[in-house]
Amino acid sequence: MSGGLIDKHRNADGTVDGLGVMADLTNRPRADMDALWAEVKANHAKLQACRRHDFVRPAGIVPINAKLTCRACDGWASPSDARWYDLGLAHASRYPAGQEGGSC
Ligand SMILES: [Zn+2]
Repeated sequence: MSGGLIDKHRNADGTVDGLGVMADLTNRPRADMDALWAEVKANHAKLQACRRHDFVRPAGIVPINAKLTCRACDGWASPSDARWYDLGLAHASRYPAGQEGGSC
């Protein structure tokens, strides 16, 4: 199959320019996608360099699309990702690596 959106953004080496696809799908300028990708990469670098996250939890109901900021690195994560991170820390402290796990 050819001529579709994906083929429109196929690179010479066969890979796909995902940012070009996103720009077309959202009807936003390519520059917006480039800026979004730069933001994602910068946030990822902050999170990867952080020794231990401490995500700020706003009071009340947190919207599903909220960005919870880490006090330590200023990176952000979704409420769901932050929750799983916290749960992983709790489990790791209860069941250190190499030891038999238990139920939650
Ligand atoms: Zn952090």
